[in-house]
Amino acid sequence: MARADADTPMMKQYHRLKAEAGDALLFYRMGDFFELFFDDAKVAASCLDIALTKRGDEVPMCGVPVHSAEGYLARLIRAGHRVAIAEQIESPAEARKARGSKALVERAIVRLVTPGTLTEDTLLESGASNWLAAVGRAGEEWAIAACDISTGRFELVACAAHELAAELARLAPSEVVGAEPVSGITGRWGHDGFDSAEGERALKRRFGLADLEGLGGPGRAELAACGGLLAYLDTTQRDSTAFLAMPRRVSRAQHMAIDAATRASLEICRAQDGGIAGSLLAEVDRCVTAAGRRLLGSDLSAPLTDRQAIEQRLDLVAWLHEDAIRRERVRSALRSLPDIGRAMGRLVAGRGGPRDLAALRDGLTGAASLADMLERQSLKPVLLDQLLPELGGHDEAISELARALIASPPLDPAKGGFIAEGYDRELDQLRSASSDGRRAIAELEGRYREATGISALKIRHNAVLGYHVEVPARHADRLLAPDSGFTHRQTMAGAVRFNSPALHEEASRVLEAGGHALTLEHAHLERLTGQVVGRAGPIADTADALARIDVAAGLAERSTEGRWSRPSLDEGACLEIEGGRHPVVERALTASGERFVANDCCLGSGDRLWLITGPNMGGKSTFLRQVALIALLAQAGSFVPASRARVGLVDRLFSRVGASDNLARGRSTFMVEMVETAAILAQATEQSLVILDEIGRGTSTYDGLAIAWAVVEAMHDEVRARTLFATHYHELTRLAGRLDALSLHHVRAREWKGELVLLHEVAEGAADRSYGIAVARLAGLSPSVLSRAKAVLAKLEAGRDATGGIAAGLDDLPLFAAFAAKEPPKDPLAEALAAVEPDSLTPREALEQLYALKRLA
Ligand code: ADP
Repeated sequence: MARADADTPMMKQYHRLKAEAGDALLFYRMGDFFELFFDDAKVAASCLDIALTKRGDEVPMCGVPVHSAEGYLARLIRAGHRVAIAEQIESPAEARKARGSKALVERAIVRLVTPGTLTEDTLLESGASNWLAAVGRAGEEWAIAACDISTGRFELVACAAHELAAELARLAPSEVVGAEPVSGITGRWGHDGFDSAEGERALKRRFGLADLEGLGGPGRAELAACGGLLAYLDTTQRDSTAFLAMPRRVSRAQHMAIDAATRASLEICRAQDGGIAGSLLAEVDRCVTAAGRRLLGSDLSAPLTDRQAIEQRLDLVAWLHEDAIRRERVRSALRSLPDIGRAMGRLVAGRGGPRDLAALRDGLTGAASLADMLERQSLKPVLLDQLLPELGGHDEAISELARALIASPPLDPAKGGFIAEGYDRELDQLRSASSDGRRAIAELEGRYREATGISALKIRHNAVLGYHVEVPARHADRLLAPDSGFTHRQTMAGAVRFNSPALHEEASRVLEAGGHALTLEHAHLERLTGQVVGRAGPIADTADALARIDVAAGLAERSTEGRWSRPSLDEGACLEIEGGRHPVVERALTASGERFVANDCCLGSGDRLWLITGPNMGGKSTFLRQVALIALLAQAGSFVPASRARVGLVDRLFSRVGASDNLARGRSTFMVEMVETAAILAQATEQSLVILDEIGRGTSTYDGLAIAWAVVEAMHDEVRARTLFATHYHELTRLAGRLDALSLHHVRAREWKGELVLLHEVAEGAADRSYGIAVARLAGLSPSVLSRAKAVLAKLEAGRDATGGIAAGLDDLPLFAAFAAKEPPKDPLAEALAAVEPDSLTPREALEQLYALKRLA
């Protein structure tokens, strides 16, 4: 660095810390500010829209006040930056004492703030989880270790390389880290600790375990991922500890597999524009707590596959659904509860304060009284019986916190005043000494006024002088007199300030007692924090149980509102829906005064592929998605928007939309569509549900039809999954005659007085004609263009009728199965030849066989 002050001790210290911070922006503490220098300053100034100044002549610099740093941090993190916080780890006085008058204050990086390691409310979205995911590997095995340190959740999941993307899509982590880059996954690579032996050691140390049997013996990839995750937490959290409950191992088979493309196309937790509004989650969510909302998000992201577990969730929803009074009592009890999970996250990380302790006090008290209320109810569902014990057991902690804290403590403990009166005798005495002192000072003011005759005399307090006497300048002479008993301290423009021995004495009393009181309060804060941190596990369980009840009550509420019904579940491959609706589209329509038309669907092993035709805007996509969403909701343990539904458990859900609906994406959209379709053909099973919307549309008519044709055949003959296939290729309806488990359906439309009327009704059979031109009229295409289009169409149709159209000859194609047969067809000649045993043949037999072989050739 060629700059003038490059060699000052401060700049040396700065560069050392910056080297340690790496690509993170360095917040360098200087008094009441965090300063940024050099390129960091340029980046931060433009991102935060604050002034960029110069230190000396050369060094670009900007700064943010410490007291409002959180807001600035939030913006930097959201913009994708990481921030290293370098604090002063000694006071200037300590530095001078230790190393002389010019000594530089020692600083150290106390924390690396990254998107996946946040605990502050201002930096987090209250209703969404904040996962940090670490990708580990051991040979061909892969695994993800993921944690949300704001609530302590910690999960391990082992998977194959090609399943990583889907698992990460389920978690939607804020940050992904790993040792080496993984293709197709965005993360920060090059981190240490991703080693199974290291991971095993770190886990045992962290949870005080002698062995990992209790965790069901995690595999080497899982351990490697844990090792990396825990090491990364250590680098980011430095001196403090991250809140982690015991890891929960998630088996992929427990959840309906849903890949990233399907999540995006069904808009499960995020709408196409990336926001929550317009997503299924937003539509279903009637939770009254942030923790409930977070759990609902993860439930919808990972529907279950175990029938019993789903029925248990449904039982609880039903129990709250059938009794509106019971439901409202539960919801109003939950509504007022603070977010105890997040409060714990901050307390464990050492960033908690008195307000977090109060949140625990109130949250745990509320949980206990909710438990009391529920305990008295009759015919409780099994899941509730399991949850009830988790709600209680904190009586001691509650009563300690209730005695210790005032009703609503301040966020910042610095000034004290949060410990309640009557909790600690010594503290009460110190406080009364300090308030006696303050009273004495007030009395002193009155006496001084009388003695001096200056009614404008005041006793004031400031940070520099402490308590002092102040009089207007014109009266100062009286106090400046040598025998006045006052000592001059300061002359201002219009006033003069003094001290006096009596004031000094009272002030010291106030100061000393106040200081002791503050120290005592902080000691209590630390002790109480230690106590609740020691109970972090059970408290996290209570938070989870409350969230589970909130989710069930919210779903019950939503079902009542929308007249949803309880689905029945089944191990077979059926999917029967009567009066099904798409919750998001229905809401949008009813908001604008229109009516949503409910539709039925009935898939089973004998009729597992529905080919759906009909005009654009006729409701095909909506129908496809509503069927998928109903299956998804049912397996997440929710009632469904239908008058009746029977769902054969779905192991994997796929949804693909033809390329031209998806133009926003960068890669060749047709290529994307084909890659995704290939993934379905490779991964779907007979127990899967597949919806394909206009597949093959992104290319020329011939290519598109050919691909769509082959995909339908393969779905029907090979994959055999329940499939809904919407298409505008009329020619595909010819497949109905050849594929016995395929049936034809269409969305109904009518032309009435020259106008097209879309009925949005799904009916049996193929659409009788294509309504493209009518739709174009609906869209406002000019009459001249329309009549020209009609003329062209008439020509084309005449040609089609004469030649059989583009699908002419397709009926003669041999069936797909003949091509797809895995074994090459057998060659009779080769088989006969292989059967010949020359050593055991008489010459005559040999000759006969030779003739026989010749005939086969
Ligand atoms: P397609 O896929 O056939 O082009 P969409 O499913 O995109 O049609 O539906 C087009 C529009 O029709 C939707 O935006 C919605 O407003 C309306 N719509 C769809 N389904 C229904 C329904 N069942 N009842 C009422 N309106 C519907």
